[in-house]
Amino acid sequence: MNIEVQAQENTTTLLLKTNNASEQQRLQEAKALRFNQPNTSVKLANEALELAKNNNNKLLIAQSHSLLARLFSKQLKTPSKARHHFYHAIMLYSEMDKKSNQISDSIEYANLFFKEKDFDTGHKIIDEALSAALLHGKNILIGKTLSSKGRALYDNKDYVKAEDKYLDALRYLEAQNLETKMLKAGAYHQLGQINKRLQKHKNTAKFHKLALTIYQSLGDPKMIARAIKNVASAEFKKQNYLEALDYAMRGINLLKDIDEPTEQAELLTLIGLTYRNLNRYETAIEHLIEAQTIYKKLGNLGKVADNSNQIGLLYTRLEKHLQAYDFYKVSLALPKNQVPVKTLASSYREIAFIELELKHYDVALDMANKAYKVYKKNNNQSKQSITARIIGEVYHQKRNASKALTFYQESLSLAEQTNSQLDHVKALNKLGELYIDIDIVKAEPMFIEALNISETASMLPEKAAAYRGLIKLEQHTENYKKALKYSQQLTDTTEQIYQIREQQRLVVEKAKLDSHIIEAELVTLKEQANYDKLTLEKNNNRIEIAQQKNMIAELELIKKNYATLLLAALLFLCVCAAFYFYRTLGLSRKHNSVLDYQATHDPLTECLNRRGLFNIIERELNTANGCEKYAVILADIDHFKGVNDTFGHDAGDDVLCGFVNLIKSCVRDNDIVARFGGEEFCIVLTDLDQDRVEHIAENMRFKTENAHFIKNVNGANPTITCSFGVSLGKNSSDLPNELISRADKALYKAKENGRNKVVVWSSDLASK
Ligand code: GH3
Ligand code: MG
Ligand code: MG
Repeated sequence: MNIEVQAQENTTTLLLKTNNASEQQRLQEAKALRFNQPNTSVKLANEALELAKNNNNKLLIAQSHSLLARLFSKQLKTPSKARHHFYHAIMLYSEMDKKSNQISDSIEYANLFFKEKDFDTGHKIIDEALSAALLHGKNILIGKTLSSKGRALYDNKDYVKAEDKYLDALRYLEAQNLETKMLKAGAYHQLGQINKRLQKHKNTAKFHKLALTIYQSLGDPKMIARAIKNVASAEFKKQNYLEALDYAMRGINLLKDIDEPTEQAELLTLIGLTYRNLNRYETAIEHLIEAQTIYKKLGNLGKVADNSNQIGLLYTRLEKHLQAYDFYKVSLALPKNQVPVKTLASSYREIAFIELELKHYDVALDMANKAYKVYKKNNNQSKQSITARIIGEVYHQKRNASKALTFYQESLSLAEQTNSQLDHVKALNKLGELYIDIDIVKAEPMFIEALNISETASMLPEKAAAYRGLIKLEQHTENYKKALKYSQQLTDTTEQIYQIREQQRLVVEKAKLDSHIIEAELVTLKEQANYDKLTLEKNNNRIEIAQQKNMIAELELIKKNYATLLLAALLFLCVCAAFYFYRTLGLSRKHNSVLDYQATHDPLTECLNRRGLFNIIERELNTANGCEKYAVILADIDHFKGVNDTFGHDAGDDVLCGFVNLIKSCVRDNDIVARFGGEEFCIVLTDLDQDRVEHIAENMRFKTENAHFIKNVNGANPTITCSFGVSLGKNSSDLPNELISRADKALYKAKENGRNKVVVWSSDLASK
């Protein structure tokens, strides 16, 4: 401090102490103390005002009002008093034609109304000031007034009109003085903010960059840091992550020497999110945790919660679910009124998802229901769709199919309403999986629709999920051919996902080389670790593909087994067929033998018929190996016609059957007994002497006359008799027909002789 200034200060103090200071000096002193001792400043300004009034010093009255107005407005936050003083100051400046002062105070005066949302009054005041400024023709005042009007419109969310005002203002802010430059930079900043609200990220970046250039020329580090942050955030929105990172890093470096914790935390968050979008999750987490520490120190719990959820999300992406869980829990532990309800809901939702993965279904359900309530209440349909899907999945796992169905369907319809294709496809896939369990015919259309919608590259994982569903479905229905087809398509899809991921990585890798800053940054970002992770993920992808190829191989095996099975089935069929043919053959054989039997046997008495007799004679006799000698006995029941007539045809049949049994009982088992026709029978005996044959015939006759084939007919026991003709011959010389013919002749003789006789052929009968 030099001597002159010290002297001046001493004089002022002295003047104040002795109360002799002029109004001018009091006002000067009040101005000097405005920022550091506002109450003393007000006291001095009031004294100056009173003295000026006493002296009728109009300019000083106005200046005192103006200072008091500013003090009450800015420092002491007493708007009513501020309005009073501005009003008087403006009136006096107007009277004195002090346009600059009038306009400047009018702007401040209007701002007080804007602050209290009294936009009508505020605009009225500012419009008057604008007319005055235009009349006055002082560009900086016009620019200032237009900016102020723009600010009011911006605060009232009328962004389009606000943009017009600021663009207008800029036309008047071309001068190169400090105040104009500050106003110009402010206008650019506001234009940046307006465009941010209008989601015009390109313009946002452009205007913030213009503001940045001016602040850089002015050398104000805080303003530079703020502008840099805004540019970085605009580039982030433009998805120019590398440029965003470049600016954000510059901002962080600048803030190292400035105590601006909020700006620092915001920049660190931005860097974290940028790294996230560059798929550098671990680095992203490091920065977000740094931001988190600052927000905690600042006690900004809402931001702490937001950041925690962001970190949780990154851990989820890294599939470190337990770490993710810890961060999602942070929001739940904070006082409820300090955490935005949206943040709380997303914590509930994400925890529900993790608990579901951990198979803690009850906790998952509880958490999901809490999130669901918030989303439903706030009509956040897209988040409601996601949460309904999680709830559906919990119910599906808990085997409550009907509730699972309800929630999946709700998720689907909400996704349709919000036009969220991703949630639409996810809901379809979930529904498909459920239908496999409960109504298999409905499953396929779900997966097919999911496939159709998920055709775009961004939905390849969902496409893969749809294929997985279809494979499961086809395996369920044992349609292995189709399952195999879908498996191949799944592998193609996974290959595509892998390729896209690789391409994204290539872009980042290339960009790394392009940017020196990033390059330098990457050294500190454990490049090797990232590279290792990259290789690891690459390998994981390969493993995934290999696993799928394995699955195909498995399916091929199943297919092969299936083919073997088919072959086995075919073999089985062949065996069956063979068996069938064999059986048929056997049957036909049996059938033939039945036919043979029928053809050679008499159905009534079951003894050989005439054909059977001649077949056997042909086979057994008349051959070289046959018997030496044989005899033929022909038997004809006497007066059989009478039996039929007297006792009925059925009785006649009984007699025939009884007679055959009687004859058979008189011969050996292998002797031939045949029905020759009607009531006439032929018996062929081999290798027996004539006596023996005669005896047998006689025995037959005797037994017949004593047999009672018909029982108890009207109290009588009728009997029958039979006549027998016998012939004997040598197998080597006598033909069967010949012997039969002789026997027939002998039989005829027996009949002739009175019936019930046995007659043996003799040569004397030959002529008859
Ligand atoms: P004879 O003593 O001269 O042999 O007199 P007969 O009545 O036995 O001889 P005839 O040839 O005149 O009659 C044979 C009868 O045998 C005629 C026929 O009705 C009867 N007959 C033929 N086959 C069957 C049969 O299968 N069942 C029954 N119940 N009767 C039969
Ligand atoms: Mg007869
Ligand atoms: Mg007869």
